[in-house]
Amino acid sequence: VSQNPGEAEFHQAVKEVLDSLKLVIEANEEKYRKMGLLERLVEPERIISFRVPWVDDNGQVQVNKGYRVQFNSAIGPYKGGLRLHPSVNQGILKFLGFEQVFKNSLTGLPIGGGKGGSNFDPKGKSDREVMAFCQSFMTELSKYIGADQDVPAGDIGVGAREIGFLYGQYKRLTGLYEGVLTGKGLTYGGSLARTQATGYGLVYILDEMLKHNSKELAGKNVVISGSGNVAIYATEKVQQLGGKVIALSDSNGYVYDKDGIDLNLIKEIKEVRRGRIKEYVDAHQSAVYTEGKGIWSIPCDIALPCATQNELNLDDAKMLKANGCFAVAEGANMPSTIEATEYFLESGMLFMPGKAANAGGVATSALEMSQNSQRLSWTFDEVDEKLHNIMIDIYAKAASAAERYGVKGNYVAGANIAGFEKVVEAMTAQGIV
Ligand code: NDP
Repeated sequence: VSQNPGEAEFHQAVKEVLDSLKLVIEANEEKYRKMGLLERLVEPERIISFRVPWVDDNGQVQVNKGYRVQFNSAIGPYKGGLRLHPSVNQGILKFLGFEQVFKNSLTGLPIGGGKGGSNFDPKGKSDREVMAFCQSFMTELSKYIGADQDVPAGDIGVGAREIGFLYGQYKRLTGLYEGVLTGKGLTYGGSLARTQATGYGLVYILDEMLKHNSKELAGKNVVISGSGNVAIYATEKVQQLGGKVIALSDSNGYVYDKDGIDLNLIKEIKEVRRGRIKEYVDAHQSAVYTEGKGIWSIPCDIALPCATQNELNLDDAKMLKANGCFAVAEGANMPSTIEATEYFLESGMLFMPGKAANAGGVATSALEMSQNSQRLSWTFDEVDEKLHNIMIDIYAKAASAAERYGVKGNYVAGANIAGFEKVVEAMTAQGIV
């Protein structure tokens, strides 16, 4: 804490991971101490922070802060998204980068961990302003990334439009047409099913967890927070598998539709109009919009937090349980507070942490990298099938690591242990670096 003052989210993520690794750490204490292993693990290999000047539509110069946290490259090039949101700061990106290291390890693919972004707020900006920002951001970032070095992707506030502008600028500066970013458009090296991957992957692993615990998704009521990329495609897959999504939200409020969310309308509002969730009730007058937080007060069987960190606290967790919710899987990164996570585990609910549950996005990004290297494009079904198998494999790894350490059913410990073991082995083999 004294080495990283003021980085609350980073401290939270490290505490959560190290607490759940207690049994592994105790068994190897001497070895890890001598190698400074944990000290090296929690210190990013490198953090780049830089000025991002750009000109707004009024001719006014704006200056934002840009970052790339290159956390750990033991098992492959740094890989992780770029987040554009006013809340972005170094501590948040360090927490995300730290989590990413273990998540990427869990996918079984050769990718290290990183994260980046800026406190730029794309909301309400014109396309030209977003382009000006992205070009300036990439002008600096391009010096530190590359297809075999560091491959960023999207995250909150970074979708197809932003990735396009970033890629165009990278190509202009370097003259390289290479897989330096993932989440690209299909006409310039993107992968089919990448857009759907995080949401679909979340529901694939949820389904796997339910099946292994004698439950099923069909016929269940599901509440999903957020209405961005992850929430939309989680909704789509839940509906395909026979579940009913009854609520979605954004940072202003939430909409409840007892008849089940009309996904085409949500896509029209969010992906085409870039509008707000409250517009849903204009077309569905039986649905109810409520301003503010409170989505977790809606009774449901399954909850999928897919918006942002710390959006679900202990009171929310208790309310979910009291209302009959029996399973939670995290589409967002660290959406449950530590207290909420502990409550889920202690109260016997099925709980799949984000590190495992949302790994389908980065896994499919790694599949996009493979396709770029091969100069090939796989079909939607090929990518989707690979994604599905990866999620089944992640479930198996988390479940078996938990069993091995005598904490059966604790997927938080299982996912952390399985991710950690591979990174540690690679770091150990590569010496003190
Ligand atoms: P989007 O920007 O597409 O959507 C984010 C959604 O969450 C929006 O509905 C947004 O509402 C809401 N939200 C964002 N910040 C807040 C906040 N502070 N309070 C309440 N609501 C908020 O992002 P994604 O769907 O891509 O990402 C969602 C989560 O999933 C993040 O935690 C991300 O790190 C994680 N994730 C994403 C992956 C991906 O492939 N996209 C991969 C793995 C994890 P509003 O529009 O009002 O801001």
